[in-house]
Amino acid sequence: MASLQYFSGSTTRRHRTSLPTRGKLQMDKDRKSIYHLDADTLECPLCTEPLTSPVYQCENGHIACGPCCEKLTKGCPSCSQPTGRIRCLAVEKIIESLQVACKHAHHGCKEMLRYNKKDERDEHEQEECKYKPVPCYIPCCMHEGPKFTLPDHLAKDHKVGKMQLDPVTGSVNFIMSGSNYFMMVAFDDEDSIDGGLLLVHRESKSFLGDAFYCTTISGPSKVYNLRVKCRAGSSLYILETTAPDIAKNVPKFSVSKEYLLIPSSGDNANPREFDLQLSFPNSNLPSSTQKLIPPVV
Ligand SMILES: [Zn+2]
Ligand SMILES: [Zn+2]
Ligand SMILES: [Zn+2]
Ligand SMILES: [Zn+2]
Repeated sequence: MASLQYFSGSTTRRHRTSLPTRGKLQMDKDRKSIYHLDADTLECPLCTEPLTSPVYQCENGHIACGPCCEKLTKGCPSCSQPTGRIRCLAVEKIIESLQVACKHAHHGCKEMLRYNKKDERDEHEQEECKYKPVPCYIPCCMHEGPKFTLPDHLAKDHKVGKMQLDPVTGSVNFIMSGSNYFMMVAFDDEDSIDGGLLLVHRESKSFLGDAFYCTTISGPSKVYNLRVKCRAGSSLYILETTAPDIAKNVPKFSVSKEYLLIPSSGDNANPREFDLQLSFPNSNLPSSTQKLIPPVV
């Protein structure tokens, strides 16, 4: 019955046209157009900041943003006419309806964001967008790309192996030896931008021995507490640590302040083998691991 409210005229006409016309109305409402604007078109000509409502104009139509108008004691800088009283509603309407592509669109993001909601845009582009480029975990590498592309990059360009954290025990065991200086450890984490990934680093500290530490790209304000266990020969070494977020720590070399040092054996003839275990202490399991209950045997 509600459909009849859209139309007027004879019953015959209403009957014949009701459905197609409703469809057209709906299309018109949803229709969006793409326009190309010069970047400075929607900037305040005085402070060059993006215009936000309210926008004012002088009597000759020269526009300025609200904060600039408040500072203008001698009227409009272009024509000296009084300004700051006439709202420019046409420009305000354009600003309010305008959507802009996410700044990571060239990496694949299809999100359209409201131009006049800078906070919303910043939140998406700086925190939520999974296409935001982040630096490669490897200290000397200049590569940057969306986080979900890094495992492929590490495997292909740095030949780094990948281990999966056991979701029941919250730990993973692996061996590092010879020329094996990096290992990826993947785990599920609902709070992370696109799953969790840690990189275990091994660095040779000349005569001191081998140092192990972990880095991650954890997303907004997330800290992973870790336990790194290493068996070398007959000794067991344990480090309780956190994995620094390399996306927040520049330069990357500054992150390795805390590491597990396995002293040199003094026997350089044989390549050393390190039997490692990485685990999340119970208090800090990634969210999806916490929810898993070990199977009843
Ligand atoms: Zn301004
Ligand atoms: Zn003017
Ligand atoms: Zn985006
Ligand atoms: Zn790299």
